[in-house]
Amino acid sequence: MSSAADILASSELLAKYEPVIGLEVHVQLATRTKIFCACPTRFGDPPNTNVCPVCLGLPGALPVLNRRAVEMAVQAALALNCRINRVSRLARKNYFYPDLPKGYQISQYELPLAEHGHLEIEAGGAGRRIGITRVHIEDDAGKSVHEGFRDSDRYSYVDLNRCGTPLIEIVSEPDMRSSEEAYAYLTELKQTLQFVGVSTCDMEKGHLRCDANVSVRLKGAGEFGTKAEVKNLNSFRFLREALDYEIARQVAVLEGGGAVEQETRLYDPSTGQTAGMRTKEHAHDYRYFPEPDLLPLEISEKWLETIQASMPELPAAKRKRFIEEYGLRDYDARVLTATRPLAEYYEKAAAAAGNPVEAAKWVQGELLGRLNAEGKEITESPVPPEHIGELIRLIAEGQITGKLAKEIFPKMFATGEAPSKIVEREGLKVMGGGELEGIIDEVLEKNPTQVAQYKGGKKTVIGYFMGQVMRATKGQADPKQVNQLLRKKLG
Ligand code: ADP
Ligand code: ZN
Ligand code: MG
Repeated sequence: MSSAADILASSELLAKYEPVIGLEVHVQLATRTKIFCACPTRFGDPPNTNVCPVCLGLPGALPVLNRRAVEMAVQAALALNCRINRVSRLARKNYFYPDLPKGYQISQYELPLAEHGHLEIEAGGAGRRIGITRVHIEDDAGKSVHEGFRDSDRYSYVDLNRCGTPLIEIVSEPDMRSSEEAYAYLTELKQTLQFVGVSTCDMEKGHLRCDANVSVRLKGAGEFGTKAEVKNLNSFRFLREALDYEIARQVAVLEGGGAVEQETRLYDPSTGQTAGMRTKEHAHDYRYFPEPDLLPLEISEKWLETIQASMPELPAAKRKRFIEEYGLRDYDARVLTATRPLAEYYEKAAAAAGNPVEAAKWVQGELLGRLNAEGKEITESPVPPEHIGELIRLIAEGQITGKLAKEIFPKMFATGEAPSKIVEREGLKVMGGGELEGIIDEVLEKNPTQVAQYKGGKKTVIGYFMGQVMRATKGQADPKQVNQLLRKKLG
């Protein structure tokens, strides 16, 4: 049998097959308290301090559904173009694990919160619509800690702070056909949920976790192949690497005459490979049944309307508006709508400048790079958007040149001062009128030889004069104006 590495090297073999991918994504909702009790959801507190009888699953403790968690879940589902089920049901999913003191997760099974959604993605220059099967709510388990203690070679510890943290699970249709599409889908999903403000989607903190289902089939085949579920994809890069490896592995199995087994596999970032973990568990293994301690979840027409009214403009709509309203290029619109604070910052700068295209240039070209270099978010920008607007206006009014503006900007970034203030203090205004003419006259007077050369037909000495004048004005003159004045005076 050829190995996955051989297949990876053979684009010819890979090209015979079509990958089929569906993602299951868990997202932590940004509520202050847990989903069935009032314990805080704070990250990083000492282990086992944010717990109570409800989230510890002590006998007799009763869950109360957090209204805010439901609202956020509905907002997420609306952003993913889902239909909201006006009545859904919570269900117990039973399994044993040391970090699950209740012995079951409260999830949704037969009647999820929302269904039939989709997300538009762009991959390889083409737009695609990826179906979303369902969005349901559930509670999180705790954490087993296998590292960081003196006796970690012998013991594992359990931290139950995370028990009962509200999650949504977003299950996609098997609509993706490459690792790039899966990457684009997860990117769009993350951006959308962040925009709505329902989750930070911080992968490092486990606020967004992704399992990938993948199969391959011969191109043109009608049926899907047998899938494997790959777990432990805790970064965007791992998702892509794991999928590429797993696709090649399955092709190698099939090319070797074997059959892909339905199983759960674990990705190991240190080897870039996936390894079989267990045979796939089935729904019936979990003994799902309706949660007896909670009523069916009903979302009234009025509540749904209120939530709908609270929805912000979503990234795709914002992008479209930036292109149509502001005349931005697709790429720029994409960059500037990457996060909600950035989009808001840009719109303020554009309004203050009275010139959205110039504002886009300054925000992208000068500001974002500097913020990036200092590891700062747009919300921490030392330059408020109004200052970018003012700088652009100063150029438009001819008070400073574009070149000078580029020198002023780093000072704005360093001090947070308004550009007009810096211009004022440093006397940077464009030099013009009598002052400039005086300097030009002086330069011409001091260089009679070059003047004679010019008049004798050697027009290139104008460059020499330009240099002299710019030096004498310390770069504060507009070169175009200097050039015109020189030509006029030299006749
Ligand atoms: P299961 O019964 O194993 O839970 P589901 O049909 O519920 O499988 O699908 C789980 C996830 O796997 C979904 O994201 C779905 O899109 C994806 N999926 C289903 N069948 C395939 C397949 N043949 N290849 C790749 N992904 C698949
Ligand atoms: Zn609690
Ligand atoms: Mg399933």
